[in-house]
Amino acid sequence: MSEHDKIHALRQELHDHNYRYYILDNPIIKDFEFDQKLKELQALENAHPELFDPNSPTQRVGGGLTKNFETVAHQFPMYSLDNSYSFEELKMWIERIKKRLNEDALELFAPELNFNCELKYDGASISLKYKGGRLVRALTRGDGVQGDDVTQNIKKIKTVPLVLQGEYPDEFEIRGEIVLPKDAFEALNRKRQEAGESLFMNPRNTASGTLKLQDSSIVAERGLQCIVYAMVSEQTVYTSQYEMLSRAKKMGFYVADTAQLCRSVEEVESYINYWDTHRSNLPFEIDGVVVKVDTIQLQEQLGFTAKAPRWAMAYKFKAEQVLTKLLSVSYQVGRTGAITPVANLQPVLVAGTTVKRASLHNADQIEKLDLHLGDTVFLEKGGEIIPKVTGVDRSKRKSDSKPIEFPNYCPECQTPLVRKEGEAQHYCPNEESCPPQITGRIQHFCSRKAMDVEGIGEETAVLLVQEGLIKNVADLYALSADQLTGIPRLGDLSIQNLLEGIEKSKSQPFQKVLFGLGIRYVGETVAKKLVKAFETIECIQEATIEELEAIDDVGQRIAESVFSYLRVEDNKHLIHRLRLAGLHFESTSNNNEQDGTLAGKKIVVSGVFERFGRNEIKDLIEQHGGENSSSISSKTDYIIAGDQMGPSKKAKAEQLGIPLLSENEFIEMLGI
Ligand code: AMP
Ligand code: ZN
Repeated sequence: MSEHDKIHALRQELHDHNYRYYILDNPIIKDFEFDQKLKELQALENAHPELFDPNSPTQRVGGGLTKNFETVAHQFPMYSLDNSYSFEELKMWIERIKKRLNEDALELFAPELNFNCELKYDGASISLKYKGGRLVRALTRGDGVQGDDVTQNIKKIKTVPLVLQGEYPDEFEIRGEIVLPKDAFEALNRKRQEAGESLFMNPRNTASGTLKLQDSSIVAERGLQCIVYAMVSEQTVYTSQYEMLSRAKKMGFYVADTAQLCRSVEEVESYINYWDTHRSNLPFEIDGVVVKVDTIQLQEQLGFTAKAPRWAMAYKFKAEQVLTKLLSVSYQVGRTGAITPVANLQPVLVAGTTVKRASLHNADQIEKLDLHLGDTVFLEKGGEIIPKVTGVDRSKRKSDSKPIEFPNYCPECQTPLVRKEGEAQHYCPNEESCPPQITGRIQHFCSRKAMDVEGIGEETAVLLVQEGLIKNVADLYALSADQLTGIPRLGDLSIQNLLEGIEKSKSQPFQKVLFGLGIRYVGETVAKKLVKAFETIECIQEATIEELEAIDDVGQRIAESVFSYLRVEDNKHLIHRLRLAGLHFESTSNNNEQDGTLAGKKIVVSGVFERFGRNEIKDLIEQHGGENSSSISSKTDYIIAGDQMGPSKKAKAEQLGIPLLSENEFIEMLGI
């Protein structure tokens, strides 16, 4: 056999072994033999660069750098799915479908309306294009109309066939979800923890982030998987969704064997119920079930809305519950002295996130749950909601375990804790010198929603207090560069940023100053209402409890808190010093900034627009109280995206999950 033929034969053989191993789960050679053959192929290919093949099995290993992921238009748009959260909604959808399909069609194509139920894999969607049985391109979903070319990285995923098996259409696209299995995710985080690197949040974000890595050799190590669920081409070559899936499997794609053809609403319901309770046994995350009209001709009759197919509906699961162990309880002291008990848990993956801690709120909650050290607890987490301990599995409790006892003394300053009549929270009354209260107040004052002093977060606040430079927020305005120079961890640039941030904060409106003071129970809204009603600090100081209470949203508890705060000598002195520093203590006439639709929002404008010029859009943002920023960061609230928005900006926005608004959506939002 010539070396040329040998190369071809080896490539074919290795593709087959790959298919047997990853798709059929039925290997016929040992890993070691596979590696030997791969090495042999590699050597032959090196000797014959003229026989290079971008789809050779050797392309799955090794590296390759992608500097910029090119943005490419999808030949067929990638739609989203409509969501439902209850069986009622699902049934309503089925009724809508029946109405829409004319009776003849139903009779002719499907005497009964069948549904193919699939799991809703929680990862990143991908579209793979094949020509002549070979993978030619992989695009991310992007905005559905165009996506990023991630072919190089996709080739590293073993469940994506580079060359197809059996029979296949000459040209088509196949769609699927790239997921990171739970165990691969956990192993990855363990490795990162050992290396002192920050941990990934959840498998979904990690999967989509991995697709955008520049170095494809790292992608190869991560253990991503591709599960396919749809095929699109000029001509449909199968008659049902179910048939499509089994064909795809024969071509060499990974198809989850959990899909099921359901012949009635009841069957759909039981499929959903089954997976709702069994999803924790799956190797990957799902966030629901997708119900699809099975007959392709009916799908074609139903068509698409602007956003999603009419023939499919996602059913999203509610909060997921898992069991884990309570290792200990720690007690955090907030800026107002409130003590929050926090459960330290055996790390566990719930609803896509590794959870190690959960708030227990207060002593009553602990008592209600009757928590013991070492208990096995139920942990619940829905979409964006903070995890919650919802119960204890008593059967797993050891007989000698000790109940959790709420402390009598502040864990930070050892002051006896107090609890007011009728309140659930314990407080440390040592406002003046309990360290986390001091730093917490400063941090709150500097936070974005208050004075927005860039450069002072938790770490800097702690540092400045530890160094004895500040004890309260008024001290900030007396800081000088001289005092800050030489402090460890504060470089010249940080010092400059910090001082500039402090200076800039002086122009913040009164309501932000009032909120920043951190008066107990005075949140953003209440601060706004107080400023609107009284306009100046003098008027608030002179107001009686009854007058304060007369304001919307201000109840007795808040009124008393404001009233007594303003009568404490230290606080009066603090306000006096802040006034001398030049902070606003009366409302400014221009109310736009405070009440605008975009109040407090940081917005990036990118691309070109149809109705407005870029600067006009920026002006509109300011007129409505928003703030323009030039670069995208995790603090950005929105991106107004015009045509020709740069691909790197787009990628960054996607990575950080920042919503993009079109020009029209923006106009609609402002109601202009
Ligand atoms: P959503 O992101 O909530 O609009 O849901 C739509 C996305 O669900 C699609 O873009 C797919 O990436 C994903 N998906 C996961 N599993 C499936 C499935 N079995 N069928 C169709 N789409 C799915
Ligand atoms: Zn304390």
